[in-house]
Amino acid sequence: MVSRVIPVDLFDLVIFGGTGDLARRKILPGLFRRFCAGQMPAEARIIGAARSELDTKGYREMVREAIAEFGGEQACGDEHLEKFLGQLEYVTIDARGDQGWKELQQLVVGTDRVEAYYFSVAPSLFGDIAERLQKWGMADDEARIVVEKPFGRDLATARSLNKTLATYFNEDQIYRIDHYLGKETVQNLMAVRFGNMLFEPLWNSQYVDHIQITVAETVGVGGRGEYYDKSGAMRDMVQNHLMQLLCLIAMEPPAQFAPDAVRDEKLKVIRALEAVAPYHIVRGQYQAEPCNESENPGYRTAVENPRSRTESFIALRTEISNWRWAGTPFYLRTGKRMAARSSEITVVFKDTPHSIFGDEAGRHRNVLSIRLQPNEGITLGVTIKEPGPGGMRLIDVPLDMSFAETLDPDHVDHVDAYERLIMDVIRGNQTLFMRGDEVEAAWAWTDPIIEGWEARNDVPKPYDHGSEGPTDATELLRREGREWRKVKE
Ligand code: NAP
Repeated sequence: MVSRVIPVDLFDLVIFGGTGDLARRKILPGLFRRFCAGQMPAEARIIGAARSELDTKGYREMVREAIAEFGGEQACGDEHLEKFLGQLEYVTIDARGDQGWKELQQLVVGTDRVEAYYFSVAPSLFGDIAERLQKWGMADDEARIVVEKPFGRDLATARSLNKTLATYFNEDQIYRIDHYLGKETVQNLMAVRFGNMLFEPLWNSQYVDHIQITVAETVGVGGRGEYYDKSGAMRDMVQNHLMQLLCLIAMEPPAQFAPDAVRDEKLKVIRALEAVAPYHIVRGQYQAEPCNESENPGYRTAVENPRSRTESFIALRTEISNWRWAGTPFYLRTGKRMAARSSEITVVFKDTPHSIFGDEAGRHRNVLSIRLQPNEGITLGVTIKEPGPGGMRLIDVPLDMSFAETLDPDHVDHVDAYERLIMDVIRGNQTLFMRGDEVEAAWAWTDPIIEGWEARNDVPKPYDHGSEGPTDATELLRREGREWRKVKE
């Protein structure tokens, strides 16, 4: 395998919020890695724009520090770093006022480059920035904007945000980012499904017993307590990341791997999702780590809200009402402070209809597991004969394709989700971005669930620090004769 880095067109990328946490941790180190990979044209510019009173020199120093802290092991050396920093500019700007806009306009208008504007700021500023981009002549038909999550907090706010952005930009100019879609394995999921003859004929309720999607984190809410407590796992994770994974695993084969072909199919999945009954949802809140409460406090302490009813964990069961999936449960689960950091999609196939080996041989199921993190890879559990004498006994062995082990590291270009997605923006490829109608459909499914909790004053179940979540989540599957895959093996 030989890695191919396809150069992109000359661009200016303006990062509103270029001094913020996301820019420093993800966007700028990611761009540096693309620079190291030779993908960034030498004349391309990255323009940080934020309130902080910095000049370009000061901004370059800030980015140098950010890359030192978050650049990762693939950073490519001092000489390259200097060149990269030389491509950065900074404009002090007020998203809500006039300061800085003329300066920005002078930098970017009339340059005949791809102009991309990354809104790495609070969503409450999206409308202000879009309006000013138009006012100052930067919202021409070629411009692209990248908007971060959260995209609304319910259907009404998402609609309103879509409407605001649509006042200034066409849908094909708006890139709603969900970094899960930029992960290598997520795209590999599509390659596995639609690039092989093996799986697709079995990919339906006749052969699949159920599907699990787990996104488990070991971290707590950290410094995001105030934001998180107003959001919770449903809004922060399920409505976007888990929903997108569900769409990719369940959608019909699109006619082409092209933006609207893929997004049309995802939208159909969301619209076919069944409403979730209250007894098919478990919400949880993590407890403090015993004997280490000061370092790892419980959820309510962490968010400084002793009466909080916001969930840091959720597990739910849903179904997709269409010909392919009717009757197949989809179990979704995500939580903080769980036993391990693990994101995985698991497709559990049905039992063979009849065992020719008799009961003593044991019965086994094929399980296809797609790991997003850590150790991206795909494992297929197949049943074989246990080696050795003593008759026919069956065991499961994994057919394992761990990307790190299987693919020659010298020939694999490791691309972080953010890097990939930003390069897709420059290329004008929206395939891995959410369309406005998808986001609205996802909220339309989520809203009644959240409204139900509010109406019932639902209180999340406590769960232990470092656990698999509340015991009720285990029961959710157990009462149907199934088990979650362990977050921590
Ligand atoms: P943050 O650390 O609070 O940074 C906010 C940025 O916005 C700063 O650069 C700030 O500039 C700038 N800003 C605030 N008010 C402004 C104004 N009136 N005019 C111009 N600039 C202004 O936030 P963040 O964590 O980077 O998050 C940015 C966005 O990404 C949010 O929508 C968030 O939900 C989303 N997001 C973040 C993460 C993450 O890991 N951080 C993950 C997913 C999504 P100054 O500091 O110079 O004032």
